[in-house]
Amino acid sequence: MVTALGLPLSVSVRGAAKINLHLGVGAVRADGFHPLQTVYQAISLYDDITITSHHYTGIVLETADYIDASDVPLATHNVAIRALEMIRARTGREGHEHLDLVKSIPVAGGMAGGSADAAATLLAYDRLHGCRLSDDALLELAAELGSDVPFSLIGGTARGRGRGELVEPLDDRGTWWWVAVPSATGLSTPEVYRHFDRLFPNALADPAEPADLLSALASGEPLRLARSLHNDLQSPAIDLRPELGTLIGLGEGEGALRGLVSGSGPTCIFLCDSLDGAHAVVAGLRGAGHDVVLIANGPVAGAHLLERS
Ligand code: ATP
Repeated sequence: MVTALGLPLSVSVRGAAKINLHLGVGAVRADGFHPLQTVYQAISLYDDITITSHHYTGIVLETADYIDASDVPLATHNVAIRALEMIRARTGREGHEHLDLVKSIPVAGGMAGGSADAAATLLAYDRLHGCRLSDDALLELAAELGSDVPFSLIGGTARGRGRGELVEPLDDRGTWWWVAVPSATGLSTPEVYRHFDRLFPNALADPAEPADLLSALASGEPLRLARSLHNDLQSPAIDLRPELGTLIGLGEGEGALRGLVSGSGPTCIFLCDSLDGAHAVVAGLRGAGHDVVLIANGPVAGAHLLERS
């Protein structure tokens, strides 16, 4: 179904979770942000946003069974609603839209679920109203919404600099298999950064380039990639949640090539040598009492159109 102008009445866009294959963090800047040298990868855990022209702006949420819906704010505290209001203002439009959000990306898990929703909303709004914003204009709006939102638009595997918002796609021909273990309780990203500042008062102003990681990626060899994964927020996250260290040891003991805290945590991710390898790690972790253990592969696309009707 389309309107008289040939525009759809509703548009659905899928956004992907991100992990950081490398997360180098520098000393906090005067503006309160930390300089980053990071390598992002979009993996196959998704949130879907459907946006429909409506007579009021609202949001209806549906969540995977491992997500507590009460952790996701509704109304203007939801970054998807903020994205909607921002792009509406930027394109000088009035009116309202309704959002249906189906969430599978763990909340406050260091996987940029909110950023995926914001990126998906920007793209869906643009397509719903035929705004035809350029990629650069969308990326600029995305950067205003949050440091990870530009990456959530482009997906794949990409370098991130600045506070993470300056993104540059990387050629990554591998198919990498991951096991992700979310935690029932989220970890606040600002709190983990504050703890990083306490633990590393002499952090460099400019974090080092991820040279090892980039050459491991280009090799396509899981074992090399495993050895070069790096996260400067891992020790502060484990200091705040010691059980994450135990979980990483457990997953590696079950055959993962390497376990790592995802971004600021508390989700832990495990690189596996194959899909079969990932299933074996899942079985081991479930056997050890972890009920929610997910398999994903990357890289996958960033925010992309699912349906227009
Ligand atoms: P990041 O690594 O980008 O900080 P994260 O994965 O750790 O993100 P999110 O899932 O994006 O965390 O959620 C962070 C907080 O943002 C949540 O605690 C929640 O209160 C709030 N939030 C706002 N909008 C959303 C949304 N659409 N989905 C999930 N959380 C949201």
